[in-house]
Amino acid sequence: MWRFDILDDMELKRPADTGQLSGWQRTAQGANLLSPEGGLGTVIFEEITALAAQHGAINLGQGYPDEDGPDLLLNSARENIASGMNQYAPGRGMPQLREAIAAHQSRFYGLPIDPEREVTVSTGATEAIAASILAFAGPGDEVLTFEPFYDSYGAIIGLSGARHTTVPLVAPDFQPDLDALESAMSDRTRVIVVNNPHNPMGTVFSRESLERVVELAERFGAIIVTDEVYEHLTFEQQHIPLATLPGAWERTVSISSAGKTFSVTGWKVGWLTGPQVLVDAVRSVKSFLSYSSGTPFQPAVALGLGMDDEFYHSIADSLRHKRDVLAVGLRAAGFEVYTPQATYFTVVDAEPLGITDATALARRLPELVGVAAIPIPVFCHEDGARRTRSLLRFAFCKKEEVLTDAAQRLATLRDRI
Ligand code: PMP
Ligand code: GLN
Repeated sequence: MWRFDILDDMELKRPADTGQLSGWQRTAQGANLLSPEGGLGTVIFEEITALAAQHGAINLGQGYPDEDGPDLLLNSARENIASGMNQYAPGRGMPQLREAIAAHQSRFYGLPIDPEREVTVSTGATEAIAASILAFAGPGDEVLTFEPFYDSYGAIIGLSGARHTTVPLVAPDFQPDLDALESAMSDRTRVIVVNNPHNPMGTVFSRESLERVVELAERFGAIIVTDEVYEHLTFEQQHIPLATLPGAWERTVSISSAGKTFSVTGWKVGWLTGPQVLVDAVRSVKSFLSYSSGTPFQPAVALGLGMDDEFYHSIADSLRHKRDVLAVGLRAAGFEVYTPQATYFTVVDAEPLGITDATALARRLPELVGVAAIPIPVFCHEDGARRTRSLLRFAFCKKEEVLTDAAQRLATLRDRI
């Protein structure tokens, strides 16, 4: 499915069937990037971004905003650098950020959090996810995710040596298949990774789905790792943090990040919250991944977390409008459009155009119409990839004029295929 060229001539290769994969091989395999011959493929975000650049296409593939976040944060970071805040931060994170995270959880969700013991700052959500999975899962265990799954989950589950089990999100609303969830659980299920709101499908999980996750985690003794980086980017309903549900707190690690909320994806400031015993366990891994990071950014993010309600409403309102601008072009192109309830991604089906291979289409799209998108099957195992073979993801976290231009280009697709 992928091009496996990077390591073709290197000694590092070992056949995937020896059963003795090294760390990079398990990671690459978990992210669908290891060929049967042992070569390494290119991460989809890199591949599509490079193709977009090659063809001068509008890049609606990799999800990052094309506008900076609030001046309050940007100015604070500048001042922090100028005033000499440039050495290691404490491993748990700077006190003002931990306090702001605790205040945020209380203000938005009514969750009382101890900023000393129940919070750790991480290098983006990505590090918190990695440290959590590595902390709790290993060979002989199973880690369950919904499918499609954000690519870093598969990679880190692979690195941990655990088996990655999946439960489908089902069209048209992409809620979890709860019967499949129950059947997929066993005493070996160590961790359930929940991503709500969901990248790539744009779903907000129903309360019923979340409650079932908690009930099954309790029944089978699993820990829940919930990735809620899109918590403030919901359009029609309020976000329900999984940790607020009855019975959830004591077994849940909640992860979020400044990247999406404040349009600063390059700052890589994330955090996790949960009961001290779980946070300590994750920190014991996190300490040796990065120890700490982002010193001048941490107080800036603390200011952002304290911004008024108007700011928080405005980010979702503006994104909802962008979603609708892009949808016009996607419909004109002939796709079936699944309107997302959250995140900054819209998933479409290319089947009405007679196209069943979204991966091939994603590779041609930059040249065909000058717009780039990500194929959904790359976020799946084999069965899931078959189920989602005609689905593509478009990011709409771009300036309105860019989306209008992309919509016009997409509208020409029918005539070009
Ligand atoms: N989880 C999900 C679901 C994401 O979409 C992303 C990035 N877009 C991340 C985690 C990574 O967040 P960060 O950039 O803070 O590491
Ligand atoms: N999370 C972003 C996305 O899904 C970017 C991911 C990345 O570049 N690794 O597009």
